[in-house]
Amino acid sequence: MSRIPFNRPSHVGPESEYVQDAITRRKLAGDGYYTKKATAWFQEHWGVAQCLLTTSCTHAMELAALLYDLKPGDEVILPSFTFVSTVNAFLLRGVTPVFVDIEPNTLNIDVSQLEQHITEKTRLIVPVHYGGTSCDMTRLMEIAKRRGVEVFEDAAQAIDGEWNGQKLGTFGSMSALSFHETKNIICGEGGALLINDPAFVQRAEIIREKGTNRSQFMRGMVQKYTWMDIGSSYLPSDMLAAYLVAQLENMEQIQSRRGEIFTRYYEGLRPLQESGKLTLPVFSTSSKINYHMFYFWVESRDVRDELIDFMRERDIQLVFHYQPLHVSPMGMKLGGKEGTLPVTEDIPHRLLRLPFFYDLTLEEQQRVLSGLFEFFGEEFSK
Ligand SMILES: *Cc1c(COP(=O)(O)O)cnc(C)c1O
Repeated sequence: MSRIPFNRPSHVGPESEYVQDAITRRKLAGDGYYTKKATAWFQEHWGVAQCLLTTSCTHAMELAALLYDLKPGDEVILPSFTFVSTVNAFLLRGVTPVFVDIEPNTLNIDVSQLEQHITEKTRLIVPVHYGGTSCDMTRLMEIAKRRGVEVFEDAAQAIDGEWNGQKLGTFGSMSALSFHETKNIICGEGGALLINDPAFVQRAEIIREKGTNRSQFMRGMVQKYTWMDIGSSYLPSDMLAAYLVAQLENMEQIQSRRGEIFTRYYEGLRPLQESGKLTLPVFSTSSKINYHMFYFWVESRDVRDELIDFMRERDIQLVFHYQPLHVSPMGMKLGGKEGTLPVTEDIPHRLLRLPFFYDLTLEEQQRVLSGLFEFFGEEFSK
């Protein structure tokens, strides 16, 4: 029997053809034919003011941190239960991260604890839509507006997720998506900065193009381009955009397949939840989830470790995350202390993620389920 990895990047159809076509067009740099197509897709389908493809979600966040003009001493509020990039992007600007605990069901920032962390130095609130599930964006946006703080969404995992019928990534003044091979819609490495507040558009194009107005030049708006501002280079090659366009055009198919896999796991594991062996997440009716990952909780760290080993012997890879950032070596250097964020410090020890990707087969999924039932000493029926 072959190994069932935790992730296997998949292509769904026209990827090779489009990448080949990008090569044939003999324009491999950024902002070519396919990049424009991808950008137009987000403007058309999501109504964002601008979409800028970037080399990663990490880079989209770094670009955003430059655009918000963050300075040393400014404070940014964010969860500690997240990927390192969410914090690094802002730390690079010298800001002080203020970590807030998560809510135990969605594992998203606990909105009821936000206000007590807002000070006159707070510039930004950064919600992370964990697993593509929204936190309470109605309350979060209301608090941000009332307190005069901007919102930036880390929507790396959240493509196609919604809160009350509105796409995640369209609430904040800006947001970032990831197309890393572990996400729903992929191109290997890549991301996008979505800009909802038009005031950021012009400067974003300049910073992304090494601080020059080359984008305006390419559109024939200026005679020659020149150095206008600070900047960096965040453009992905058009070959990567070609792969991405193939995925975007097939997003419905990708999402519906992921939905089937998700439902099969969820329904399949219900008996184990009923007998108290594990806990499945519950989703708010205001959330449209995007089937980014499949996770559940077990009773303790020991059970988690035993289960990982048990499944590894059956060639099935289970993983967990995130080590809370505030008590990581870097977080401690910033003054993080144990015991300050109880939910964040408890959850990763009991959380498990199952193999979950587009072309996971029915047979593979049944192997995963039957392994779990065997571990918990219960009968598995297909
Ligand atoms: C994947 C991920 C990122 C980083 O995305 P890259 O495209 O790899 O830079 C950032 N934040 C979260 C929550 C993620 O899951």
